Amino acid sequence: MSIFSGLLNAQRSHFAGKENALASSMWFATAGESVVTKPLNSSANVDVLVIGGGINGLTAMLQLTKLGVDAMLIEAGEFGEGASGRNAGMVNPGQFLGPDEIRAILGVEYGDIFVDELSKGPDLVKEILIEHDINCYADFRPVIRAAHDTKTAQMLHRQVKLWSDLGQPVEILEGNKLFEITGSQRWKTALMDYRGFTIQPLAYVRGLANAVLRKGGQLYQNVRATSLSREGADWIVSTVEGHPIRAKKVIMATNAYTGSLHPAFAQALVTCGAFGVATCPLDKKLRGLILPSGHSLYDTHKIPLFLRYDPEGRLMIGSLGNLSDDSRRSIEAWGKRVLKRLWPQLPAPQWSHVWQGTIGLTNHHLPRLLSPEDGLIGTIGCNGRGIAANSYFGRMVADITMGRKVARPLPIEKQAPRAFKGPQQDGLDLAMRLYRNTFLLD
Ligand SMILES: Cc1cc2nc3c(=O)[nH]c(=O)nc-3n(C[C@H](O)[C@H](O)[C@H](O)COP(=O)(O)OP(=O)(O)OC[C@H]3O[C@@H](n4cnc5c(N)ncnc54)[C@H](O)[C@@H]3O)c2cc1C
Repeated sequence: MSIFSGLLNAQRSHFAGKENALASSMWFATAGESVVTKPLNSSANVDVLVIGGGINGLTAMLQLTKLGVDAMLIEAGEFGEGASGRNAGMVNPGQFLGPDEIRAILGVEYGDIFVDELSKGPDLVKEILIEHDINCYADFRPVIRAAHDTKTAQMLHRQVKLWSDLGQPVEILEGNKLFEITGSQRWKTALMDYRGFTIQPLAYVRGLANAVLRKGGQLYQNVRATSLSREGADWIVSTVEGHPIRAKKVIMATNAYTGSLHPAFAQALVTCGAFGVATCPLDKKLRGLILPSGHSLYDTHKIPLFLRYDPEGRLMIGSLGNLSDDSRRSIEAWGKRVLKRLWPQLPAPQWSHVWQGTIGLTNHHLPRLLSPEDGLIGTIGCNGRGIAANSYFGRMVADITMGRKVARPLPIEKQAPRAFKGPQQDGLDLAMRLYRNTFLLD
């Protein structure tokens, strides 16, 4: 690691183990009660161990519990401690890439399944919400992707053509129609994706956990796996608490938070901070001016901007980037600049929350399904678009683990190409900082 890289790493809260507490996220205010689980007081022996209690791990566990598998899940913090409890809650289909790009990367065999299955991702989330009676303030207004320049406006037109040819419900919004929805002159073209919708993400995660518990599944919080080793055909997973867990199979659902737990999963990702800053609840008059129709929106920039309301009327403004301990004021100043740029007529807001999560980026911009050793499997790297995708992948990985036949949108890789960490990670950090500081020039 270069000195430069070391310096930047020290700034990255997730590397320093200093990501701010989950309670600093605005989602904590409206997520209801934390999930109560029993402590892990002794060693355990199960058929399947799931490591990680985000959307991926919990949907895997939900499926295992439904199938009656002797399984347990351990989460290092509380459920949703990772990206799942800190995100923007936009339940989007697929990935950022269009169907043509996905097929070009994955080949026709996997590409067609990927496009087909992942387009239905939001419907799967809806099914889960209904089946398990999860109240996470689902708002079925479609999600908007706004072009930040003319080049990306053309890209959105192309994507709408491609998705429409596949019978997918998307359309282009322009002119007055778009202005009525956003209240801002900033965007001239946008893609309205009727497949997408919005949820309160931490409430979704807690709802998933409660659904597993109601079905009798074994879930543990505040249990961190420290190492994985083999004993015969079994896996032995050591934990910080000193209670080892023996399992025939292990599902890795640690994604961008894998750290040093397993190199194959960690090396396949470049990790990247993503943050949110939220205003205090806005009054009716202001809400009538900023995104007056209540839709959520993200833009086409490589370092995207995302905007949405929470159930109590806080406006979340988010983007990519790592925050340091003293970032609060500079992020609030950034939020102020963003609002001024988008809605110049409005007064400066009061801020309530600033928080960060970590996402995993792959070098081909699509998730990976990794099984580096027998009985060890997991999906990683949803590139910042993982609510619907991980709801799908969690269930899929549980099915594969139990030998069930499923449509598989990704090849199983023993080893993914190493994501080019050092310089790429540093370049990313610098680009994100520069962009944040020059937003007005864009
Ligand atoms: C600010 C932000 C905004 C985003 N916005 C959106 C959006 O609007 N729409 C969208 O689709 N996606 C969005 N994403 C991405 C989305 O949140 C992620 O793709 C998704 O939540 C990943 O889910 P996961 O379960 O794979 O991982 P995570 O939720 O990160 O879960 C991994 C879990 O593993 C646990 N863990 C790690 N190591 C161990 C260990 N050794 N032992 C035990 N447990 C361990 C962690 O504590 C963590 O809870 C956003 C992400 C961020 C950060």
